[in-house]
Order: sequence, then structure tokens, then C-alpha cells
Amino acid sequence: MKLIKTTGRAKANAYELLATLERRGAVKTAEVEPVVRKIMRDVQKNGDKALLKYATQFDSLNGPIRVTQEEMLAAWNETSPELKAALQTAAENIRSFAEQQKAEEWMTQNTPGVTVGQIVRPLESVGCYVPGGRFPLPSTLLMTAIPASVAGVKRIVVCSPKPARETLAAAHLAGITEMYRTGGAQAIAALAYGTQTITHVDKIVGPGNLYVTAAKIIASTECGIDMPAGPTEIVVTSEKGNAAGIAADLVAQAEHDPETLAVFVTANEQLARDVVAETKLQAKGNKLAEISLKARGTVFLCGDIEETHTITNRLAPEHLTVDSDKDLKWVINAGSVFIGNYSPQSMGDYISGPNHVLPTGRVGRMRGGLSVNDFLKVITVQNYTRSGLATLAPHAIALAEAEGLIAHANSVRIRRKGGKR
Ligand code: NAD
Repeated sequence: MKLIKTTGRAKANAYELLATLERRGAVKTAEVEPVVRKIMRDVQKNGDKALLKYATQFDSLNGPIRVTQEEMLAAWNETSPELKAALQTAAENIRSFAEQQKAEEWMTQNTPGVTVGQIVRPLESVGCYVPGGRFPLPSTLLMTAIPASVAGVKRIVVCSPKPARETLAAAHLAGITEMYRTGGAQAIAALAYGTQTITHVDKIVGPGNLYVTAAKIIASTECGIDMPAGPTEIVVTSEKGNAAGIAADLVAQAEHDPETLAVFVTANEQLARDVVAETKLQAKGNKLAEISLKARGTVFLCGDIEETHTITNRLAPEHLTVDSDKDLKWVINAGSVFIGNYSPQSMGDYISGPNHVLPTGRVGRMRGGLSVNDFLKVITVQNYTRSGLATLAPHAIALAEAEGLIAHANSVRIRRKGGKR
């Protein structure tokens, strides 16, 4: 990791680096966009034939694309009791967290005779992308499919390249009935446009590498997407944390992907130096972690604590670790926050219950992680009585006339007179 001071002669360099890290999302997805567009056009034109071609080329598939429920059951039966217990505990925690997050239906009278409120309805079909390029991610299957099922989505389609036995077992546990062995931009295209085998869905959710993220952004003109949830990001902002624990979190996220962003922000010089040394030690021999830490691993040694907060919020990281719950006050931009020495980010990746599908590339400025509400539509309702309409009608007519929308004003007048012109 590179240690850079934000004060004195290094200040200009530090802020230039910060600006580069801030642009990380858009720059990287733009690099792969031409090849992603080509793959997506091919799937749109040639359907299943193109899917099979890419599954063979990228994921060495030599069998059918559709995964059967018998395969999922067999995988579950072959799973060790320890892993079954872990998957079940994760599933229960994700389910109960999603249930608590669920948007409520409500109705209220804001004026006598005027009832307004909202009803909540599930999306009809969603596609859950479960990465499978480097590592099998059964945890991601649970993190996407369970909130969809809590929302009441009827058709949940899972796509994953080379799904491992553990991922198939998680699919069985989550009650999945439609799953395909397809990944990358081609899977996103199939979910967005449909093929002979895969019927298109209303929304695509789930994380993935740069190809998946770029494809989701392109697909967003055709269907809904949750957010760009690309290569992992971690920022730890600490003055009094434990150097070995901080380094362990940085290395853990860095092993996800060579594109991982791993940053430590502090005003404590001794801690900064200890974290650099610990990270080097702990990353040794972990190829992916070494590559990403070398490329983007950064320690910002700040002039004061205020500056550590400003830099952290500018980075808007996917995962953020801070020292104590008092720090929540200054946190404005982040996907998910972990507090203190006993809250490793890996617990959030697997078992705590909050979702691990989180915004990357500074999308943390606009939204938090995936939730049950991504699978729900909040539909508003309004209901006037005759006297309620009489009360508010003059205001609506005044606004309609100010906008020059005469038919709007007339519609209010005619309804107010009980449907008489
Ligand atoms: P993946 O399933 O996302 O990608 C594999 C696919 O990439 C392949 O099937 C192939 O189609 C495509 N691909 C690979 N090389 C290509 C090339 N040269 N040209 C065109 N397509 C190509 O699996 P992965 O690669 O292991 O990545 C998983 C990602 O998910 C990691 O970056 C990880 O950090 C991220 N992740 C993010 C979150 C989040 O919430 N932000 C959560 C979990 C995982």
C-alpha cells in the first residue's frame, strides 16, 4: 500500500490521487463497454446460440444451460452439515432483516375528506446475477433471492457462470425453480432482452465484475437494475483501531478482484505506518490481494480528523469501517458501515443479515445496498369525498390555470359539480 500525506509538499499529489480514485467507476466500465455492447448485440440477435457460444468460450460449459431442481437437491444433499448450518443461519438472518426493511402500506387523511396513502406490490419477475468467475458465491445467491422472495416476487431467475455445488445447494435452500449456467454480459443481455429459452425479466439485480456492471448499465434502458455493484471497495477510517485487524479487512476485500479499491484514512501517523507494514505481511502469497493492493492500495495520512471524514465521504465507499457509533454522525456517503474492532467486514459479506450487494464506483452518494424494497413498487393512492374535493379544488384550479392547462382546471370543476358540465 502506498502511504501518502495530505499535508505539506505531498498535498497536491494526495488530492490528485483522491480525484483519480473518485472517478474509478465510470472510467473502468467505459474501458470494457465496446466488447460488452458487442456481446449484448449478439445475444439480442442470435439468442440461445450466442449464449452457448460465450458459455463455452468464457466458462468452459459443456452441458445444458438450464440447471434442474434435481441438481440443486442433489447438491444440497451432498453439502456438509457445517455448511448447511451456515447457509441456513445466513438465510434466516437475511430473511428477518429484509422483513424489517419492507416498505409499509398506509393511508391517512391530510385534509378532511381527502385520503392519501400507498399500497406496496412486488415486481412480477426479477433476474438475480450470482457471480461465479473467480470464486463461487453461494452467499450472493441468498443475498439476492431471499429479499426477492420476501417481497413476494413470483418469478425469480438466477444466472451464474459455472455455478459450484455450494451455489446450487444455496439455490435449493432459497427455493429457486429457474436457474441458468450463463454469466457476464451475455447473461445480462439474456435477462434484459430474452432468448428462446430465457424469458426477459422486469429487473436485474446482483453484483459482478466490470463486464457485468457495464452490461447492467446498458440494459437499464430495457429493464430496471438495482445499481452498479462492481469490484469491491473498502475504506477504513480510524484513529485508534487495531492495525492487524484493519489490515486483515483490507486484505480480505482485496482478494475479491484485481480491481478492488482498498484505502485506509487516518490522522494517526504511527497507526498509518503499522497498517502499511501489517497489510504487506498479511497479503504475502495472496496473489489477487497483492495485485489490487499494489495497484490502488492507499493510506491517506491526514492533517486532522476532520479531513479524514471529508476524504472518506468523497470516496463514498461500498464498505466503510469506523471506530465507534459516534462516527455515524459524520458518515454521509457509504454502502454499509462496520463499527469497531469486533466487526470484520467479512461478517457482513456472509452472515449478519444486511445485504452484501452494495453500491460501488461512488454510487454510495445516491443509495445504500440492495434491499427488499428493490423488489417492491410503492404505488400511491388518493380518494376524495365530495366535501374534500370542495376544500382543495380552488387551489388545484388556481395552479392549473397558472400553468395554462385549461382541461385540468375543467376536470376539477366538472367533478366538483357531481359530473355536470
Ligand atoms: P463474474 O461472474 O462477475 O464474471 C465472470 C464472467 O465475466 C464470465 O462468465 C465472462 O462472461 C465475463 N468475462 C470474463 N472475462 C471476459 C472478457 N475478457 N471479455 C468478456 N467477458 C468476460 O465473476 P468474477 O469475475 O469472479 O467477479 C465477481 C465480482 O463481483 C468481483 O469483482 C467482486 O468484487 C464483485 N462483487 C461485488 C459485490 C458488490 O456488492 N459490489 C458483492 C459480491 C461480489
